[in-house]
Amino acid sequence: MGGPGSGSWYRWDTRRVIDQVDRLDVRGLSRQGALREGVHAVITWRQGQSSKSSISFSCQGQAICLEYRTRIGSENWYPVRQEIALEWLPQKLGGRRAWLRCPDCQRRVALVYWSGRRGYVCRLCTGLPYKSECEVLEDRLYRRMRKLRKRVGAADGDTEQPLWHHPKPKYMHQSTYERLGELAEEARMEWLEARDAKLLRLVSRYASVGEHSTWGKG
Ligand SMILES: [Zn+2]
Repeated sequence: MGGPGSGSWYRWDTRRVIDQVDRLDVRGLSRQGALREGVHAVITWRQGQSSKSSISFSCQGQAICLEYRTRIGSENWYPVRQEIALEWLPQKLGGRRAWLRCPDCQRRVALVYWSGRRGYVCRLCTGLPYKSECEVLEDRLYRRMRKLRKRVGAADGDTEQPLWHHPKPKYMHQSTYERLGELAEEARMEWLEARDAKLLRLVSRYASVGEHSTWGKG
């Protein structure tokens, strides 16, 4: 990356820029004048009593670039370079406001949070399981839903539709049908949520190919 002379160079007191190591606020960066193309900065913060940590920050117009060293648990430190897309949108009362695109799900956000292996991502993504975990969960919930639907004779029904669209088996008491049906519907809602989470992961994976985050292990 560039240094002094290759654009503006700032050395911030982080307390003014980010209030915590684990979060980056695009509004704060904007106020500091950091979101102009060619700006380079080192953002530092205190860690514990004596040690300090820092990340290199630069603005490339359409994206901000973060470079830092990190490690997971007691693994070796490795360098990371992460690009986060930057967008300027008009405000209601005039002027434009900066937004970041979450590198993981591509949502437009003002804040990104440190999340370990994924680097800086939106708050939602810090809590989302990995894709493989999503798949395992979806599969388990789908099988559970199918089992419950089978008990009320709706094994082959359209799972996009509520169970109640399926006729009650003639031999079954209404109360039994309702009790099992409630369980099957709960299972269906859980499965749909898990499926959405899985789709979100897939979409973000394809949307982000060649567009962000060069992760290196050095
Ligand atoms: Zn996200």
